Amino acid sequence: MECFKIQNLTFTYPEQEIPVLRNVDLSLHPGDFTVLAGPSGCGKSTLLRQLKTVLAPHGSKEGTILFNGTPLETVDERTQTAKIGFVLQDPDSQIVTDKVWHELAFGLESLGMDNTTIRGRVAEMASFFGLENWMYQNVSDLSGGQKRRIAIAGIIAMKPKVLVLDEPCAGLDPEGRELILSQVKNYQQTTGSTVILVSHSMEDIANYADKVLVMEQGRVYNYDTTEKIFRDAENLSRMGLGIPDITKVFLKLKEMGVDIGTDVYTIPYAV
Ligand code: ADP
Ligand code: MG
Repeated sequence: MECFKIQNLTFTYPEQEIPVLRNVDLSLHPGDFTVLAGPSGCGKSTLLRQLKTVLAPHGSKEGTILFNGTPLETVDERTQTAKIGFVLQDPDSQIVTDKVWHELAFGLESLGMDNTTIRGRVAEMASFFGLENWMYQNVSDLSGGQKRRIAIAGIIAMKPKVLVLDEPCAGLDPEGRELILSQVKNYQQTTGSTVILVSHSMEDIANYADKVLVMEQGRVYNYDTTEKIFRDAENLSRMGLGIPDITKVFLKLKEMGVDIGTDVYTIPYAV
């Protein structure tokens, strides 16, 4: 069964006439790593926020969202907290405590877990994310990239079945980006959890995603396997999405009359 099934979802912010989400139909399959891409303002954050009741913006909504087959609004808050991990775009709005260790423990405390379990999980996360040396530091003393890692670790500590991340790599250098993505990928692969993550950079993302969801002006433009999405690289490029350099090379070659496909997005495949 789909982990999330969205049917004909249309959403309009209060006092606005034009919907920001229009007739969105989407099924997220358990265990998939989906990257959500699309131009700024196309509705990515608005769509993701619909996936957790406490984060859903006010406005008028039509259509249904099923979580494991049950209408999301009837899934109690504790279950949603435990099963749907959400990392907001701005790490500062996610951080709620002072010390790093406490940030890792906070979500587990809110689920009412006992201290022994919490200590075990915090230690596990510290090791998984390489945070051992920061545990007693003040979160406010850390860099933006470090705060992001803490925020993500704090959510993963709760072992959510679905992990939703809104632009977790924005503003990070390639090294920081790869670190975060590989940790998220590792979590997905070792636990079979479902991941949906917003990114504009197709370059690194292509190496991590099983599926890509492309939005344009509030609609699902395309939702398919990474391989198939890149067959449409010309259109993605027109929409201003950063397609991988290697794909650009193949597009150029085709333009020059070489008879080749353009669904090439990694260097090994290009070779
Ligand atoms: P994205 O994450 O793809 O950049 P958003 O979902 O943040 O897009 O925004 C989609 C559209 O909705 C944009 O035009 C944005 O200006 C508008 N929008 C976002 N939040 C609100 C809000 N609280 N009230 C009214 N309009 C909003
Ligand atoms: Mg956004």
